[in-house]
Amino acid sequence: MTYLIDKIVWEVTAKCNMNCMHCGSDCNCDVKGEELSTAECLQVLEDIKEVGGCNLIIFSGGEPLLREDLGVLTSRCNLFDFKTAVISNAFMVNEKTIKMIKALNLLAYGISIDAADPYMHDYIRGVPHAFEHVEKAIKLLNENNIVPTIVTTVHKLNYNQLPKIRDFLIKNNVKLWQIQYGDNIGRMPKDCQITEAQYLEIAKFILNTNKNYSKCFKRVSGADVFGYMSPFAKQLQGFWQGCLGGISGVGISAEGSVRGCLSMQSDKYIEDNVRNRSFKEIWLDKNSFAYNRKFDCSMLTGYCRTCIYAATCKGGCMRAASLHGGRNSQYCLYKIEKEGFSSPLQARTEFSKQEIFDLYNPIRKLPDEFWK
Ligand code: SF4
Ligand code: SF4
Repeated sequence: MTYLIDKIVWEVTAKCNMNCMHCGSDCNCDVKGEELSTAECLQVLEDIKEVGGCNLIIFSGGEPLLREDLGVLTSRCNLFDFKTAVISNAFMVNEKTIKMIKALNLLAYGISIDAADPYMHDYIRGVPHAFEHVEKAIKLLNENNIVPTIVTTVHKLNYNQLPKIRDFLIKNNVKLWQIQYGDNIGRMPKDCQITEAQYLEIAKFILNTNKNYSKCFKRVSGADVFGYMSPFAKQLQGFWQGCLGGISGVGISAEGSVRGCLSMQSDKYIEDNVRNRSFKEIWLDKNSFAYNRKFDCSMLTGYCRTCIYAATCKGGCMRAASLHGGRNSQYCLYKIEKEGFSSPLQARTEFSKQEIFDLYNPIRKLPDEFWK
């Protein structure tokens, strides 16, 4: 069987000028392993072309703008007819860089916004004035006809911020918004993750926003982590055909390792490194990405294994499986509809300020504004 690539998420650098508490890559200002050189990246692009090309490459990081050859990579993508986008923290978008960003010819410029209260966004990002940069970046991108796409990662601290973020985005003429939850990958602590009840409420929030704010937003989505097979979820996902990692999606890390999706953090999902074997060889190897290409329902665990949708859904997003070992999804609307919440804690949507303080302050000292 031939597998054609639709989307690639490529962490082109592990360097970052922020210090987000939920960072899935655990990036910081030091490079983790030696990053692929320009020549190595161009060879990967050549290989991608040889295996049939792809529709979209999303350059992520770290902060992709810290890679000085980003323009070289995006122009090669343009030449090969691959659309490109970046996911950035917006810190480097200013009057001086906007011309360079425009020249990248991106389909969209993804920016993370984690709260509409500036102090909270700055706290989560670990950098003062981060929110100011975001506001300025959205304005500059809109003025230069570069489509801003906002990504919000939700955990217990910013769960209640969603309506405020929505208002902020409407005011700033943002049309595309992706909401996802923070899992305990990279730096994100498990106790800060949303509960199942909060997951359900966020799904309703996404549906409600698409329905009642359709004039303001082109699309509000819940990424691959909201939805799956319930009638309620179908409105969120369209037809969910299971994780597409290694089927039509692939992730490449800064130092060249290849896995079905960068969300699959465990090293056991690394197929190989482009420094050992070419991307083409890795992609075409019939033994690669076996957890999806050779999927069998017996690979599932827990409730997913007996679910009537197991064969189609494949247990939802693989990132949970990559983290916790067993292949099943704690966050599944169908499961919640059928079984309810898995514990009294998971049934909670509200947490007191003191509870949130006790969870977050030991990780990173909360500013005084938190109590106002
Ligand atoms: S219970 Fe598992 S297999 Fe069934 S719909 Fe939910 S995630 Fe998919
Ligand atoms: S691991 Fe999750 S986010 Fe990644 S491709 Fe699979 S379903 Fe999508």
